[in-house]
Amino acid sequence: MTTSTVIGSDHKLDHSTHTPKEALDFIHFLNASPSPFHAVHEASVRLENAGFEKINEKQQWHLKKKGKYYFTRNGSSIVAFIVGGQFQVGQGGFSIVGAHTDSPCLKVKPVSKKEQQGYLEVGVQLYGGGIWHTWFDRDLGIAGRVMVEKHDGTFHHSLVHIKKPILRVPTLAIHLDGSVNDAFKFNKENHLVPILATTAKSVLNQKKRTDEEPSKHHPVLMHMLAEKMKIEVNQIHDFELCLFDTQPATLGGAYNEFIYSARLDNLGMTYCALMALIESDGIQDEKNIRLVSLFDNEEVGSTTAHGANSSLLPSTMERIVASMKSSVNTKVTFEQAIHKSMLISADMAHAVHPNYADKYEENHRPQMHKGTVIKINANQRYATTAPTSLILREIARQKNIPIQEFVVRNDSPCGSTIGPMLSAKLGLRTVDVGNPQLSMHSIRETGGVDDVKHGIDLLKSFFELFPHIDAKVIVD
Ligand SMILES: [Zn+2]
Repeated sequence: MTTSTVIGSDHKLDHSTHTPKEALDFIHFLNASPSPFHAVHEASVRLENAGFEKINEKQQWHLKKKGKYYFTRNGSSIVAFIVGGQFQVGQGGFSIVGAHTDSPCLKVKPVSKKEQQGYLEVGVQLYGGGIWHTWFDRDLGIAGRVMVEKHDGTFHHSLVHIKKPILRVPTLAIHLDGSVNDAFKFNKENHLVPILATTAKSVLNQKKRTDEEPSKHHPVLMHMLAEKMKIEVNQIHDFELCLFDTQPATLGGAYNEFIYSARLDNLGMTYCALMALIESDGIQDEKNIRLVSLFDNEEVGSTTAHGANSSLLPSTMERIVASMKSSVNTKVTFEQAIHKSMLISADMAHAVHPNYADKYEENHRPQMHKGTVIKINANQRYATTAPTSLILREIARQKNIPIQEFVVRNDSPCGSTIGPMLSAKLGLRTVDVGNPQLSMHSIRETGGVDDVKHGIDLLKSFFELFPHIDAKVIVD
């Protein structure tokens, strides 16, 4: 009886918890998005399903009021927007949420073939500022984009996602380095090299070589990619491939209250921004353009053709204003629109860590499940100002959405994100926010289930309420 009671109560615990549907859907999004290319693809599918029309930066735009549109740049950044039913050039502004699609990871080198001590290895580069020791002893797959030559001679961007754990970076046995528990040190070039196979098995399984056999990468790797994509090896002309942890994102904790996953930074806010735009109501009466911009390359400084420090957001905004036919001077009306606009720069924030609480400022220790965090920094590592945080807090207050605040300790370094650079580039009012998480930039991070819904609700309310609340905040 005792045993069955215990089993019974455990069983009840699993099923009596109410996991918000947003958290479960977010887990699907995470598992479908092992690379920025996949995140953009997944976002495109969701936008298409919600009635957004695909447009292209190479073509002229014919936008209509109440129209919903999206386009991608480089296949790794995506912009989606809705033209308000009451939008007037010279009158309306932009309600913008920006986030990033990339996360720190290992990327396959242009020449990746390595062989030593009877092992085939794959050379990798380090992308962004990862906690690299967490990549040791994980079961790694490969995902990204491949440039594929079609039979008509054209080259296409195609996605590949090998979920099988084909790679691993093993640690050294403690018997050979007794100091490892005091400080785990490694050389990023020599020691962080994933093993793909043994030479012995590779020789046994070798297919008959052809003249076209590529020499930059191990044939077994090329064959796996080709097989997965149902193409021939010689159709693969180039690729950008990320390694990822094959352990899927999952719920965790006694009450299923955590999300354990890679890439919470920043697929967390990418997901909230996307779903907030898709689910936002009141388009008929909307005076603004509602826009979400999800950029690649934030983790490496954003200065790329499709990063936040590029023309992507400014040129999109200019083109939208210009395409809403008007006889008035578009340069001036664009400037007017900027000053009626606001950007929420949405990038994950730090939840207080119970075992390192002294690393956090005593009055600014964000908690899981207690809402999205407004980030403030006197030295402008975050772009939040009193008027922009007031607007966001007022939106949260009206909709009864929890919100928290964060500053770093004066003796601590501070991260930064896309907020300050977009704010400065455009002269755009900005507030930096993000949902709280632990272990940022680890291969396996921890977030809270309730904050997914809090984040969506906050950004959705921003789209719906910003023009009304902005009309009451007078700052010239
Ligand atoms: Zn981030």
